[in-house]
Amino acid sequence: MNQRTIVQRRTEHHLDDGDHERFAHYVDKADMTRSAVTGDPVRALCGKKWTPNRNPDRFPVCPECKKIYEMLKEAGR
Ligand SMILES: [Zn+2]
Repeated sequence: MNQRTIVQRRTEHHLDDGDHERFAHYVDKADMTRSAVTGDPVRALCGKKWTPNRNPDRFPVCPECKKIYEMLKEAGR
């Protein structure tokens, strides 16, 4: 029983901490390249800052990033 409680707490904590990793965010390509070299965190369009995973493809696209990206695309015409 005690062990189970600990595991659940850990999971909750992980969800809090790793929320940004549940989405694939839009990031400037130059930023991404620099991060791959330096290991520095990148900043997504939605303002999230994190060190990217190698494989974000399996995550759904961050809705905020998508919204901003589409706005930029329209504005950039
Ligand atoms: Zn995002």
